[in-house]
Amino acid sequence: MIKSEHMLKGKNIAIVGAGIVGACCAAHLSACGAKVTVFDRAMPGQAGPSRGNAAHIAASAIFPLAAPGILLDALPMLLDPKAPLKMPLGQWPKLMPWLVSFMLNANKKTYQANINQLGEFNQSVYKDTEQLYQSAGLSEHLHRDGALYLYESGASLDKSQQEFAARQRFGFDCHRLDAEQIYELEPDLAKIFSGGYLIPGWMTVSDPKKIVSGLMDYCYKLGGKFICEDITALTSTGHGVKVSFKNGNSAGFDQVIVAAGVNSGPLVKKLGQKKLLTAERGYNLTYTRPGITINRALMFADRGVVATRVDDGLRIGGWAELVSDDIPVNQDYFSRINGIARELFPALDSAESYPWMGARPSTPDSLPVIERSETDANIVYAFGHGHLGLTQGPTTAKRVAQLLVPG
Ligand SMILES: Cc1cc2nc3c(=O)[nH]c(=O)nc-3n(C[C@H](O)[C@H](O)[C@H](O)COP(=O)(O)OP(=O)(O)OC[C@H]3O[C@@H](n4cnc5c(N)ncnc54)[C@H](O)[C@@H]3O)c2cc1C
Repeated sequence: MIKSEHMLKGKNIAIVGAGIVGACCAAHLSACGAKVTVFDRAMPGQAGPSRGNAAHIAASAIFPLAAPGILLDALPMLLDPKAPLKMPLGQWPKLMPWLVSFMLNANKKTYQANINQLGEFNQSVYKDTEQLYQSAGLSEHLHRDGALYLYESGASLDKSQQEFAARQRFGFDCHRLDAEQIYELEPDLAKIFSGGYLIPGWMTVSDPKKIVSGLMDYCYKLGGKFICEDITALTSTGHGVKVSFKNGNSAGFDQVIVAAGVNSGPLVKKLGQKKLLTAERGYNLTYTRPGITINRALMFADRGVVATRVDDGLRIGGWAELVSDDIPVNQDYFSRINGIARELFPALDSAESYPWMGARPSTPDSLPVIERSETDANIVYAFGHGHLGLTQGPTTAKRVAQLLVPG
């Protein structure tokens, strides 16, 4: 805890959202001595993308999606059923404001500025994660096995060189490997790769939902509580904030944190502020008896999927489906991901698996929204972590604590 955080002692703080970001804030603020109440319409970590994500602490993933040339790359992908980008036609009109802002971020200068912001933010991720997990008794769930980025085409391997040089500049160690070195490290891979990069510092967790519940348990141990409620509005009272529930009741707090993932938008809108946020849905399969082993996190750069060893087995998936409405899960995507998984691991036993879809809360610039509300300094926003909520949760919690301290 840093010195100024002692000022949070005894403060009555509500957190809307018990996903990974809300849970990290709950754990850290409780450790600072605040009286924390967490609200969620579902049980902690059970509803959103925090439940079944790929389990990576991906600190060196510092590249925003809005990159120069994205338009040219995206158009063929939208026409290819096996490509990782999806945007159902009916969703286009409602997505337009987000897409326009996304495209405005895709110029060289803004892209570089966004990389710098992500790179700086992510530099303390490993330290913050280790500290918070250790305090919460979760260190045994954190694995420091590294990650391997894999490229099938020599052209994409060469093209990626600049990205790995940028990671190095932010202090993230990485080494280029040839195909033979890759197969030595990961013998169960299909022999289709031309090379890759090893990132030794990369971490994973054994089960993202256990991390959320473990952080919440730590919060309870320090006196915090969880209340299952659907929050409909936040209202400034002059000396604090009123939190209104769907059932008509309400409760008052000194300060409130909005960590409601992709659903943060409507709460913020009621406060008179507009934040561009969309659901970027991802799909994965967890093979519970995969019959093969991987020794570290694997990133299949040409496919937009990743593979992770988790407590339940082998998790493979990814993709990005941009939607503005709560449309049904596309079941067909699971069979396509299964097909890709079998191409990547020829000996994979795919007989037993469970499917999962989660909606990443994504901003047009891939930067999380961590700031005081313009309408009331007692309300702090902590959402929009896109692909990196598990990664950035502990660092976000520290930033939020700073924003809650007066001054
Ligand atoms: C396929 C996939 C793979 C991913 N892999 C990784 C990875 O490897 N590493 C990584 O760092 N990130 C990964 N992510 C991203 C990560 O999962 C998200 O960034 C993160 O879960 C967002 O957490 P959150 O707490 O902001 O939101 P959420 O998990 O959505 O939590 C928000 C909570 O708020 C609640 N809520 C919303 N509105 C209200 C309301 N009005 N009242 C009460 N409760 C409310 C919801 O019920 C929910 O529980 C992945 C995502 C996907 C989809």
